[in-house]
Amino acid sequence: NTPVLDVRDLHVEFASRRGALHAINGVSFAIARGEVLGVVGESGAGKSVTGLAAIGLIDPPGRISGGEINLSGQRIDNLPPREMRRIRGKRIAMIFQDPLTSLDPLYRIGDQLVETIRTHLTLSESAARKRAIDLLAEVGIPAPDKRVDAYPHEFSGGMRQRVVIALAIAAEPELIIADEPTTALDVSVQAQIIALIKRLGRDHGTAVMLVTHDMGVIAETSDRVAVMYSGRIAEIGPVRDVVQHPLHPYAKGLMGAIPTLTGDASQRLVQIPGSMPRLSAIPAGCAFHPRCSFAFDRCRSERPEPIAVGPQRVACHLHDPASPVRAPVEITA
Ligand code: SF4
Ligand code: MG
Repeated sequence: NTPVLDVRDLHVEFASRRGALHAINGVSFAIARGEVLGVVGESGAGKSVTGLAAIGLIDPPGRISGGEINLSGQRIDNLPPREMRRIRGKRIAMIFQDPLTSLDPLYRIGDQLVETIRTHLTLSESAARKRAIDLLAEVGIPAPDKRVDAYPHEFSGGMRQRVVIALAIAAEPELIIADEPTTALDVSVQAQIIALIKRLGRDHGTAVMLVTHDMGVIAETSDRVAVMYSGRIAEIGPVRDVVQHPLHPYAKGLMGAIPTLTGDASQRLVQIPGSMPRLSAIPAGCAFHPRCSFAFDRCRSERPEPIAVGPQRVACHLHDPASPVRAPVEITA
């Protein structure tokens, strides 16, 4: 059972005048067919960089400095750029926060869909147009046979994001990477787009990596969740387990704060005091220790490696049986 996306010990660094900045520092995870993996964390945690690495879009001065990325069993992180371009769009599709980054304002959306479809599938012009209309219907565009000839500016933000999703699934990709796909949309529209993304995985067997700072969105959409902090995965596991019983102190802080889909996520996060360290000043040991109310000696010197705890994997010394203090006892320092 080969995963669609298999990322192993990924390292990404950016060259700077003062030496390499480590944006991703040993990240491993896999996404199965039909599975939605939510990747959550504050801005600067490395979520988007992880997504960009997976599609070969880390540009200089950045580079993948270690680890490997496999797509359905094929190693892709070392492919020549031309081959990687072929894989993007055909086998991996992307959905970004701003639908207009994916749509050409000068072309009717039907023409853009037909072009994408015909780049990847051998279909006649008329068969491709029919498929374009079917795709628009599938993503919930009303009167798709008429809207197919409209221009991007004639759609609302939510409808535009639906068109982008239609474009993303047009080539029947194995993997969709969606980076903050609902952040720019109204809350009511967000819920519809989320339902749509969730259905894609189920109906098409597509693997989805959903990057967002909004834990509410992940709770609604994802099968599993990876909580990132400072270029590492703090905790990963089935969404139900991580939401109801977060093990990592940072994940506990995030989950303590996700009542509903509504509300501003940046407000929810302020209950963890302090902020994500800058890449130039990642603390030694556990990068979270300056903000962690459970921190003890070992946290300041030794970086925690992921430990399996039931279906969850957590990188925190509290959960290491070798630590002098043991979780899940609530320790007050
Ligand atoms: Fe807190 Fe230490 Fe666990 Fe890091 S390793 S989250 S500092 S208890
Ligand atoms: Mg981002």
